[in-house]
Formats: sequence, structure tokens, C-alpha cells
Amino acid sequence: MPELFGLMQDSALTVDRFLNHGATWHGDREIVSRDADGTITRTDYRGLRHTARQVSDALLAAGIEPGDRVATLGWNGARHMAAWYGTTNIGAVLHTLNPRLFPDQIAWIAAHAGDRLLLADPALAALAARLVRDVPTLETVVFLCAPEDMPAVEFPAIAFDEWIAAHPGTATWGGFDERLACGLCYTSGTTGNPKGVLYSHRSNYLHTMMALQADAMGLTQRETALLVVPMYHANAWGVVYAAPAAGAKLVLPGVRMDGESLYELIEQEGVTFSAAVPTVWQGLLQYLRGTGRAFSTLHRVVIGGAAPPPALIRAFQDDYGVEVVQGWGMTETSPLATLSSPTADVLAQSYDEQIRRKAMQGRLQVGLDFRLVDDAGNALPYDGASSGRLLIRGATIASGYYRDDTPVLDADGFFDTGDVSTIDAEGYMQITDRAKDIVKSGGEWISSIEIENLATGHPAVALAAVIGVPHPKWDERPILLVQPAPGQTADKADVLAFLDGKIARWWMPDDVVIVDAIPLGATGKIDKKLLRQQFAGYRLPE
Ligand code: AMP
Repeated sequence: MPELFGLMQDSALTVDRFLNHGATWHGDREIVSRDADGTITRTDYRGLRHTARQVSDALLAAGIEPGDRVATLGWNGARHMAAWYGTTNIGAVLHTLNPRLFPDQIAWIAAHAGDRLLLADPALAALAARLVRDVPTLETVVFLCAPEDMPAVEFPAIAFDEWIAAHPGTATWGGFDERLACGLCYTSGTTGNPKGVLYSHRSNYLHTMMALQADAMGLTQRETALLVVPMYHANAWGVVYAAPAAGAKLVLPGVRMDGESLYELIEQEGVTFSAAVPTVWQGLLQYLRGTGRAFSTLHRVVIGGAAPPPALIRAFQDDYGVEVVQGWGMTETSPLATLSSPTADVLAQSYDEQIRRKAMQGRLQVGLDFRLVDDAGNALPYDGASSGRLLIRGATIASGYYRDDTPVLDADGFFDTGDVSTIDAEGYMQITDRAKDIVKSGGEWISSIEIENLATGHPAVALAAVIGVPHPKWDERPILLVQPAPGQTADKADVLAFLDGKIARWWMPDDVVIVDAIPLGATGKIDKKLLRQQFAGYRLPE
């Protein structure tokens, strides 16, 4: 039988539409940026589109062609966002480099990507110099600043404002295949070299539609969104696209992410919504508690990238009136894949039960498929108890890595997330652990996340991390590392007594080590890899 195609317009799903829509229909909605010195600058979607078009002109004048990689190395700000759209909208590929990685890694990544042009924050001039030296494909360096703020460097470079100044902003946007590459973001793999996730226009477009849903980020024209998630972390969780698409006011906080700086910005700009990793929220909470301050406008936050402890969720909701929605995903999943917004059934249950659900990673976004399998690849039931490897499939999920032939999909097209989880009968997924972080004791699994979540409920504990250490009889045993809350002293016996009775006896950590600071990795999550290195020579108490 002949196929019958629909008679609807084949208009390409490309991301230029988001900023075009924002500029045309929400043109005077503000975009607020804060520099490192605290200076606030303001533009709006109309202004940002003009700047982004000038960037496109300047890129074309520099010989950048569709498919070429253009790198950015900087914090969240309007120039960075103009560079973002200026690049993607002419079919070039925006490669967001993470400045918090080690310089060797950044150079390796930029060389692997074959970046031709770099737009860098002036405070990162030393890193830029390193890239100029070590990345053979790099031809042009632009600093994201005005001419008077140019850093002193020994290589040819130009200030962003000067670079775009002479251009009228007339470059043509869009008009290409929606499957073309749009963005490139490397994940810092735990073993081997970092891997490049290459988003397409289509995947980012579809991801934005998912992110905008009420049970996801739910951004509307009436919201003011503070983008705490760095632009270099997995598409900025989609907010760079969702905000102009919805016409939300956007606040870009720059480099300062401490509790006080974020609080000031939230209050000054009337922020209603934000998204970030748990450690950022923990910092903000400590600031609120220390100063006795409260929020006057913030009403909803998405916390993801790592598991927010239930105590953190309760504190935001109960003490500060801010609804918490947890999100789970990874660079390879664009990233949002599950969210913990309550279902009607959950809302009908007790508040404790609602918190228990919020502390789970949540339910799947429309258009995606899950599979839960044991080590032999057999499907496991969705009973909330069977724990296995989590596989995922869909139009916003990676099908491979850039310049890497290793197959990553199984025969049915599923991608292995590397996370170990359960899924319950209501569809709530809960991560037990990253496969590599799980503590394997006597052949059984101990969830580091669960112990950390409980420990963080102790008032003297700011951050908690569980790692496995070698044990002659049990292979591995968990130890708990604790960073005390400011002005508090945590005590081993006291922390253990706090955990006692809340977890199985054999899950109890064999030691509690109080440390000055738990190291955070390049995206603000607890760096377990580094912790394992630091505790490599550690011996359990007799
Ligand atoms: P990345 O690609 O760097 O964002 O890291 C993705 C990984 O972070 C996932 O595979 C999970 O292990 C972890 N992750 C992300 N969101 C959550 C969450 N809500 N709870 C627990 N782990 C998470």
C-alpha cells in the first residue's frame, strides 16, 4: 500500500526559532547579567537578537562555515548567550568548554573537537593562552568583554564588543536541516578520555518542548528565571532555549555562585524560578539560616545533576515556601529525562510520602523509553525493589560520541546510562547509585546516595559523601566523609548514632571522617573520583 504523508508544513525544528520568537513577541523582556565585579548590565530579547546576529556576521567574516566548531569558555552572561545563538543559528556548532576542568583536559577536548574560534571570559586569559598554544585548529580568540576590559595577552585577540561593532547584524539564520549538529558538550568520563555529546537542532528543539511542560520546568512569560546551571553544563539544562521560547525574564549570575551573591540577585531581580545542582542550594540554605533572611519572590526550583537530600527539599519547602522539583538526566540525555513533580495520587497522600517521592529522581518525560536490566541484560520488573542498570531511548538521547566509533546503543537502540536504579509501579525512578560509586560489600550493594541523604539531615552536617574502601573480608566497606556546617563541629559517634536504626546494620559506615571540605567537581557535584584518590591509602580502624 502506498504511504500517505500528512499535509502539514515541513518547517525545520531549529533553535534559531527560540530567540526569534523571544525577540519578536517578548522583545522587551529583560536579560540581566552580573559581571565578576558585581556590575549589572541589562538587555532584552530584541537587543540580544541583534547582538547575536552581529556575532553571526562576525563569524561568517572570520570564515566560519556550517559544521565548524566555535568554542566558548565562560560564565553565564548575555555576551555568552549572544555567542551561543550567533553560532548555532548559522549552522556552526557551539562547543561549550568547562573552565573548571583541568587545563590539560580542556586543551585535549578543544583539540579533539577541532575548535576554530574561541570566545573566552577575560578572567580566563591564561587558559585561553594555553589553548592558543595547544590547539592546532584554533585561529581566532575573542574575549567576552568591552575593549577597555581586555586582558594583557601575548597572542592576537580582540574584544567581543569591538569584534561585532562594525557588523550590521544581517546574517541569515536557519533554513537548514534540523538534524544538523547544533551543540557539543564533553562529559568528563571516569575512565578514559572525555567524550563529546553532539546535540542536533532537532534534539535541542524537542528537549525545549519537554522542558517547558508544566510538570518539568514549567517556564512561562510571567516567570523570572535565574540560570545558575552553568552554560557549559549540558545545554544549561535547556534554559537558554526555554526562556526566550516562553518569554521569561532571564537572570545570568556570572561567576559568583555563593549563597550571599545568589540571594542578593534573587531579591533584586524578583527571581521566581531557578535550577541548579544540590551543592548550590546547600550553600544558599546555609546563607539563609546564618542571616535569618527569607525569599520574597522565589517559588520553585529544579534541583538535579545529583540527588538532593530529603532534608534539603524539606528545608526549602517548609521553611522558605519554595517548591522543589527534582530532575535527573545526563549530558547524553540533553539532559532532562525524569522529573519528580507529584502525580494526583501522590498529592492525595501524606506530606511525608510526598517528600519521599520528591526525593526520588522522578517520572519519565514524554517521548522517552526506559528499560531496567540485570547484569545479564534481562528485563527487571518495575516494583520499586529490583535494582539494575538503567537504559534509555528517545529523540533527545545520544546515539554515539563525536569522533568516536565505539557503539553505545544496544540492539534495540537503548543507551546505557551507567546509573543503577529502581522503578516503582507508579513510574518513579530512583537512582541507587552511579554504577561506579556503589559500595559492594560481601557481594551485596550499598547505596552511597541513601547514606549521604540521611547524614545530610544531621544539623551539624553541611555535605556528606560515602565511598567504598577495600576490606579483607567484605571486599569493600563504606566510609562516610563529613564536611561540618559553618560554625559547627560534627562528631563521629554522634553522626553514627544519628544514622543508627535508619539504615540496615550492615550499611552502617565503618568510619566517619570529618574533613574541612569535600571537593566539588567541574559541574559543582561532589567529586568522588578525587575523594577515592585522596583516600587511596586509607586504612579502616581496627
Ligand atoms: P552529567 O552528564 O555530568 O550531568 O552527569 C550525569 C550523571 O549525574 C547521571 O548519570 C547521574 O549519575 C547523576 N545525576 C544526575 N541527576 C541526578 C539526580 N537527580 N539524582 C542522582 N544522580 C543524578
